Amino acid sequence: MKLVMKMMKFNTLNMEKKENVFCVKCCSFNKKTEDNYITCNNCNTLLDVTTRYSKRLEAYLGFINGGNRRVI
Ligand SMILES: [Zn+2]
Repeated sequence: MKLVMKMMKFNTLNMEKKENVFCVKCCSFNKKTEDNYITCNNCNTLLDVTTRYSKRLEAYLGFINGGNRRVI
């Protein structure tokens, strides 16, 4: 399954766009990682990477971390 995904990425570079995380704070896109949390490249906000995928944005929604997680 993973191999298939890699091949798809290799063949169609446009697929990369669908691996984005949308920052709800500054409306920028970040590269999706394996982590549940990412730091926005644009505004340095810690984002919860949700499983909610927006077809309109072609990205997963990254919500602002509400402080229910201890960073340290
Ligand atoms: Zn941001």
